Amino acid sequence: MPQDRKIWFKEQIVQADAAQISVLSPTAQFGLNVFEGIRGYWNADHGDIFLFRLDDHLDRLFASCRLIGLDCPYTPDQIKQAITQVIQANQYRTDVAVRATLFVDGEGTWHSSNPVEMFVAPISKPRRNVGDEEGARACVSTWQRIDDLSMPPRVKAGANYINGRYAHLEAKAAGYDLPILLDRAGKVSEGAGSCVMLLRNGVLVTPPTSGSILESITRDTLLQLAEATGLPTQVRIVDRSELYLADEIFLCGSAAELTPITRIDRFTVGDGNIGPLTRDLLGAYLDIADGTNPAHPTWRTGVWLPEDDA
Ligand code: PMP
Repeated sequence: MPQDRKIWFKEQIVQADAAQISVLSPTAQFGLNVFEGIRGYWNADHGDIFLFRLDDHLDRLFASCRLIGLDCPYTPDQIKQAITQVIQANQYRTDVAVRATLFVDGEGTWHSSNPVEMFVAPISKPRRNVGDEEGARACVSTWQRIDDLSMPPRVKAGANYINGRYAHLEAKAAGYDLPILLDRAGKVSEGAGSCVMLLRNGVLVTPPTSGSILESITRDTLLQLAEATGLPTQVRIVDRSELYLADEIFLCGSAAELTPITRIDRFTVGDGNIGPLTRDLLGAYLDIADGTNPAHPTWRTGVWLPEDDA
């Protein structure tokens, strides 16, 4: 971790390693926090970083707060300002990933609801380039995805990620790169931190938002981009065996961007190479996200980086 990494913490810009919370806080003890992972893409022509679908991320953050019972002490505009301010403070001129987390600090337990605090932590993170990649080897996890009757997956809460952790550990121990989880009904749900899409018989297919998934902004983006090119899409229940028959499979998410999967359990996906749809959609997504393609202007929020002293 770079020594001079700055974060926004409780209304101040501080060095990351100087930020302190109580070890007895609900966030430290029980993972009582909600967060967003937002991508920012550097555009050299504009000399700026564009944050992707920031308003949608903030809507989801407030929805998470509502369900988990936290009162956010900040307005969406104040959170936007904090994000902008901390990217500027770090002087990034690169693609970035930003974590904005609302958490319950102070001595408390799992049903405490205050004080709600926020940190915003950006890192420099280059976009995916699948040119020379092999694609990931995935397995269907024996762990089940959490469910709306227990831990609503549409809430982006820190504690929800422990479900993904079990699946991830199992996948790694078995020699795979990552897991895909099934839902309570045994149907395909999502990855440990990403949604699943597959191409089958010329149709882009993905499980519905009632399939124990996070309501992913990237998934929604890709459905819209695919439809705009005339590719048929289906949001529907997906059987596990369809994964084994798919021509292409990829995970999608702000962190995953598009992560191609070329092996699933003991099956090769398609011809074992990263497929043309995966490549095309990744390219289309990045062109929109970094502003190379000016369509969907409301999906991009500039950081307004100060001009470099040249
Ligand atoms: N599912 C889970 C469990 C996730 O953590 C993420 C990443 N936020 C996603 C899906 C993808 O969501 P998004 O495209 O909004 O980043």
